[in-house]
Amino acid sequence: MTVVLVVVIVLLLALLSAGTVVTVRRRFPAPGAPPRAPVPPPEPGARPGAEIIRPPEPEAAGPEAAEPGAPAPREEAAEARPPRLRDRLGRARDLFGSSLVGIRTRGRVDEAAFEDLEEALLLADVGLPTAGRLLDALRAQVRAGEVADSPDALLEALREDAAALFAGEDRSLSRAPEGTTVWLFVGVNGVGKTTTIGKLAASEARDGRRVVLAAGDTFRAAAGEQLELWAERSGAGIVRGAEGADPSSVIFDAVQHAAARGADLVLADTAGRLHTKVNLMDELRKVRRIADRPPGHVSEVLLVLDATTGQNGLVQARQFAEAVDVTGIVLTKLDGTAKGGIVLAIRAELGLPIKLVGLGEGAADLVAFDPEDFVSALFE
Ligand code: GDP
Repeated sequence: MTVVLVVVIVLLLALLSAGTVVTVRRRFPAPGAPPRAPVPPPEPGARPGAEIIRPPEPEAAGPEAAEPGAPAPREEAAEARPPRLRDRLGRARDLFGSSLVGIRTRGRVDEAAFEDLEEALLLADVGLPTAGRLLDALRAQVRAGEVADSPDALLEALREDAAALFAGEDRSLSRAPEGTTVWLFVGVNGVGKTTTIGKLAASEARDGRRVVLAAGDTFRAAAGEQLELWAERSGAGIVRGAEGADPSSVIFDAVQHAAARGADLVLADTAGRLHTKVNLMDELRKVRRIADRPPGHVSEVLLVLDATTGQNGLVQARQFAEAVDVTGIVLTKLDGTAKGGIVLAIRAELGLPIKLVGLGEGAADLVAFDPEDFVSALFE
């Protein structure tokens, strides 16, 4: 009897310890096994996650290392020269330039010249508060005798004041000191987020960086497809979710995917509109929080604004800036029917740096914003 009891106890102990080993094995993979990506804690109302479409290409080939049969679009992207801001500002320059003609033909600087100037600034979409601020400063300079009594001197003083608005701003795109750099792109539908990400992926890849795109705009099915084309053209990796997938989990997976492959940068698209009752700003806060979890480090939140929407862009900017700590603006479609003055209003009223400007739909049509060049082109 005692022997039977001892055998039963030994058997029971053996079974229990086997269970523990199984649990331990589950928690800790065998040495040498690839690390499993940690799973983000489920959030209330979380939707299905992401699917990795393709990894980033191992090496961004420099021009001399390019394979003979590389896909044509990528060659195009690598070879196309970025346009000059002043060459693409057609409409803005015509409009402002022709308004200035009348002022230049006035004999002297009087109240009528100031009225003409105000009208020109408003027509150019500078907006009342910024126009008022610039003109008040100009009046003070005239009263103090700092500006000669000639319209040309007046316009030159205005040009300098406008350029001075941008003094000391940091327009660089920052990268995480450690971990995986994430740049998040936010903005309403149609402003050019997806296109901007595609153009940036092309230029970053050209500079030799390994890039992963996160198709976080899961509301608009076409956005994922569009981004996939850009990924193909630039050699970037891409992580996509099914339509309606949780954007946070798509971006989280993209960060894990980038970190596991030693990629330098994740460019994350986000929705500009949602079909659920979830507030867009709440969703973006959550996206930012999750993208920022180590090894991810969100070092830029870039608000994309369409320059042709004029003063409306300022309203959007205030809403987004409140929710997600915007670090800079990408102003798209300056090549289109934009009047240009919005550039001054963004700086004067929002205090946010414009870091990049979109000057067309091609891969090379995204350039660093150069305020000196912009202001001189406008006043020429
Ligand atoms: P999203 O909804 O914010 O992702 O916007 P998309 O990236 O889909 O862009 C909307 C439209 O604007 C597309 O037809 C783009 O080709 C176009 N677009 C984007 N950036 C520019 C730009 O700088 N200049 C011009 N002319 N068109 C642009």
